[in-house]
Amino acid sequence: MKTAICPGSFDPITLGHLNIIRRAAAIFDQVVVCVTLNSAKTSPMFSNEEKIEMVRKAVAKYPNVTVDSCNSLLAEFVKKYESPVLIKGLRAASDFDYEFQMDLVNKRINPGLETMFLTADQKYTFLSSSIVREMAHYGADLKGLVPDELIEFIEEKARMQRR
Ligand code: ADP
Repeated sequence: MKTAICPGSFDPITLGHLNIIRRAAAIFDQVVVCVTLNSAKTSPMFSNEEKIEMVRKAVAKYPNVTVDSCNSLLAEFVKKYESPVLIKGLRAASDFDYEFQMDLVNKRINPGLETMFLTADQKYTFLSSSIVREMAHYGADLKGLVPDELIEFIEEKARMQRR
């Protein structure tokens, strides 16, 4: 059984991420969404627990999707799964440059590990977690950017951080 691993920092998960996860779930037997906790990114908006909980809520309706988290090297971490394949979304050429480099690094660590790319849905090519954070900070409407069931939580978090 092949396992699709969809990694990301998900700070927070967006409808762009979810579109990739849903499409991977239609192709692969099982999908593991992996919240990466060792990111070099500074000052995340959400705690690790909050990021994981939001992803759990967002994927609850997909029976073959589960959530895990990783605070080590992803290329090592995925070895615990059966025939893992990394799935990444590509929005623009800039994503490609970064992902190409990441794939080469991952193969140094785990030579058998392949990465497959799904092109972003055109509705979401503009969308990133940082855009959502920015919009939330200024109190803009998040409808159509993140799953409906997360909007209230994200808005409340942004309100608390503005204080
Ligand atoms: P990181 O910041 O660790 O790269 P992200 O959470 O931003 O993680 O993104 C994780 C993955 O989701 C990446 O492969 C990224 O290209 C993809 N992704 C992010 N936003 C979108 C989007 N709007 N459409 C498609 N793929 C996306």
